[in-house]
Amino acid sequence: MVNDKMVDDYVSLDEQWGAHNYHPLPIVISRAQGSRVVDITGKHYIDILAGYSALNFGHRHPELVSAAIRQLERVTLTARAFHHDQFGAFCKELAELTGTEMVLPMNSGAEAVESAIKVGRKWAYEIKGIPEGSAEIVVAGGNFHGRTTTIVSFSTDDAARQGFGPFTPGFKTVPFGDGEKLASAVNANTAAILLEPIQGEAGVILPPDGYLATVRRICDENNVLLIADEVQSGLARTGRLLACDHWGVKADLYALGKALGGGILPLSAVIGRRDVLGVLRPGDHGSTFGGNPLACAVGRAVVRLLRTGEFQARAEKFGAHLQERARSLVGQGIVQTTGIGLWAALRLAPDGPSARTVSERLLNHGVLHKEISRDTLRIAPPLVITEVELDLALDAIAKVLSEA
Ligand code: PLP
Repeated sequence: MVNDKMVDDYVSLDEQWGAHNYHPLPIVISRAQGSRVVDITGKHYIDILAGYSALNFGHRHPELVSAAIRQLERVTLTARAFHHDQFGAFCKELAELTGTEMVLPMNSGAEAVESAIKVGRKWAYEIKGIPEGSAEIVVAGGNFHGRTTTIVSFSTDDAARQGFGPFTPGFKTVPFGDGEKLASAVNANTAAILLEPIQGEAGVILPPDGYLATVRRICDENNVLLIADEVQSGLARTGRLLACDHWGVKADLYALGKALGGGILPLSAVIGRRDVLGVLRPGDHGSTFGGNPLACAVGRAVVRLLRTGEFQARAEKFGAHLQERARSLVGQGIVQTTGIGLWAALRLAPDGPSARTVSERLLNHGVLHKEISRDTLRIAPPLVITEVELDLALDAIAKVLSEA
């Protein structure tokens, strides 16, 4: 019999031996399937976080698990010192799916963004002809691209930067959504504009109408690369393969991650133009685990799932329901909602409970939720969630807000 004392024991073990860079909710998960999670006491939960969108296909999707098992029985790691029989096929299939020309597999989302920054700079020096050491990248305020030293260098979140300087130079920040400010930040030394097409961690902020097309035009007029960070927004979450597809805009490079590894292992990639990724030559850049056979086999299975369009369709259909129900909570503890597809942010009334408190209370109602910020709830369930489960989760949120 598992009891609360054992839950406390796990929590103290984590706290004693693990670095305190997260503040997890007091639940100890031991099993999961689809959109359901079970804790060590046997209690069931509906997952509406989906591993920050790494679990778009749900926990342990059978086709992804069997692709991983098949590969585990063959070969798992070669390092890129050798060719292996999954690498080229994964790159080709991902490029064909996304309508791009070349693929650079990496591991984490931050690593994909870092790699895109390096490729963008190298392209600027070798192809565009910017003087060495002076390339600039324009980024948006409120961005979240990961946690490496270079990436936090251009974060506008003090908590992400405090204590981690000195920072990497070469970035200019403009407000997200402001085409004029973006145009005036671009000069002869601009290598790239790096953006999340939809700002996830800032609170699922959609670009204003016409903004991404304006960004694309500014890039074209100034021979500047558009780098779209679709680590969170990509791979069906919004109802399209890529969020940029909603606005018919094509980036020169995309950073993908999270769901690319099927919720099984870390797999990210920079994908895009051959003449841009082509600036990398042997020895320039690499990663021991990047593009390993196990990750590539899982990535190929992810591509197969995405090719059917089923997950994009689910995100669109159930997303419409989610957005409508989220909007109906305005005035009942919620002041504003934003979102697209199966991805929504609900801003709490200032006089109500904090988002953390709502997350804690939702556990009692069997809903696994994690806030985006102090005052914002995030709903991003696995795309396999059913309408009934979605309604149960939203009913629980309504209940928690009404109890506040
Ligand atoms: N880019 C975006 C848009 C993200 O949302 C995240 C993570 O939330 C990252 C990059 C970093 O990904 P990872 O945590 O895998 O390094």
